[in-house]
Amino acid sequence: MKNTLLLSLLIGSVTVTTTASETNTTKAVTSKVVETEFKLGKYGTFKFEQANKNVYIMHGPIVSPNKENQGFMNNPALIESEHGLIIIDPGGNYNVGKQILLEIEKVSKKPIIAVLNTHKHGDHWFANKTIVEKYPKVDIYAHPNMIKAVKEGEAEVWYGILNRTTGNLEGTKAFAFPTKTLKDAQKLEIDGQKFVVMHPKSAHSDTDLLITHINSKTLFLGDNLMKGRLGSFDESSSIFGNIELLEQIKKDTNCTLYVPGHGFSGKRDETIDPFLNYLKILAVEGQKAYDDDKESYEVKDEVLKLFTDIKSWDAFEKNMAAHLNKTMMEIEEREE
Ligand SMILES: [Zn+2]
Repeated sequence: MKNTLLLSLLIGSVTVTTTASETNTTKAVTSKVVETEFKLGKYGTFKFEQANKNVYIMHGPIVSPNKENQGFMNNPALIESEHGLIIIDPGGNYNVGKQILLEIEKVSKKPIIAVLNTHKHGDHWFANKTIVEKYPKVDIYAHPNMIKAVKEGEAEVWYGILNRTTGNLEGTKAFAFPTKTLKDAQKLEIDGQKFVVMHPKSAHSDTDLLITHINSKTLFLGDNLMKGRLGSFDESSSIFGNIELLEQIKKDTNCTLYVPGHGFSGKRDETIDPFLNYLKILAVEGQKAYDDDKESYEVKDEVLKLFTDIKSWDAFEKNMAAHLNKTMMEIEEREE
């Protein structure tokens, strides 16, 4: 375990000293509670902040996994019901999960009664392990494709990625897989909190759930939406599927808050447009290059010049080149 993490866990403990007198008739009890902080070096301090009615979000560092962020980079959310708490994507490993759990308890001491996972990538769900340790019977929901994928190897792939980049995976195995399934358009009610989920066939991946918390009109998009950094698109994902999904959301939804998988939440268009416009430029430029019989590496420097503000996003150039290549592969498949 990391020293800093251990330290903050230690100072987070409640010290209770009990001294019984010789006659056993009196007891002196002293209690000292030291407030902890979830600190990650240069990235600062992280806590849950109220984002909507009964909705609290901890926006993680907007960077790729590394030693300093200890593998914490997603946006865990908590929804408070009358009798308990519902957690969406509790974080990227067991140790970070402990810090997040302490922060959850600062918002409310109510028990965690359900967990929802948006997709297969470990940076979002590996901290299920921490929740299950404290609440062994908690229901964890995900799409059936997610559960299948993680059990058939995706969990191990992500364990490898996060172990290499963060070295903070002690305690994360055995994995705490989701236990319950949610399919496209399925409704879920937990202690008065109502949800409806959406499953795109293939957008960020083929395992994703987008979760609408109906009571507060909050839409959790998982990694189908990014702000401030880009992620990877694998063979189960589709750039064109992602564009279609975001356009449909802009057209058909009118929530009060939109929560990306990485980056800050906000109103619909201001939160969705930067990433959607990015993908649409890739689609147009990819098509042009394809029509001109060019490879993506031949045009990537020119395409890069088309981006202004979002060029400053974390690891933009590297990801953009990969995404342009993926876009052109999809165009090729479509045209063949
Ligand atoms: Zn992610």
